[in-house]
Amino acid sequence: MSDCIFCKIVKGEAESYIVYKGHGVTVFLDKFPVSKGHLLVVPDEHYESIHDTPLSKACKVWAVASAIAKYYRTKVGASGVNVLTNSGSDAGQVIFHFHVHVIPRWGPMRGFFAGRHSLTEEEAQEALNMLSGVKDFIEEELSREGCV
Ligand SMILES: [Zn+2]
Repeated sequence: MSDCIFCKIVKGEAESYIVYKGHGVTVFLDKFPVSKGHLLVVPDEHYESIHDTPLSKACKVWAVASAIAKYYRTKVGASGVNVLTNSGSDAGQVIFHFHVHVIPRWGPMRGFFAGRHSLTEEEAQEALNMLSGVKDFIEEELSREGCV
């Protein structure tokens, strides 16, 4: 889809902080994070939402999201992590390219999307530093088990 912002990010045609790319999946920092390290995991191919994403593709997206959640809990010390997708505008979906949110929590959450703000350069760099080991971690997790 030529007018899809996530397709543009996947192809490198729109600016973003890409954290991981592999197995047909791209991971980047949410431009409007609710917490430091809020990531989006998307399939490289365009699907509107989870309802039209083939299971073989969705499986890879969820596997990468799971690995990142594990990384946040075991390597970076997040006290909690949310992993979720919104399907349909009634569920809060805004960008219609299937994506899974991975939201690390650094303390008790006040509300699901409470505290959503614009990503700053400083916050992005801090998040990228925190995620410096995540690429290897994902590859290790996916090579050991999972659907990829
Ligand atoms: Zn797209």
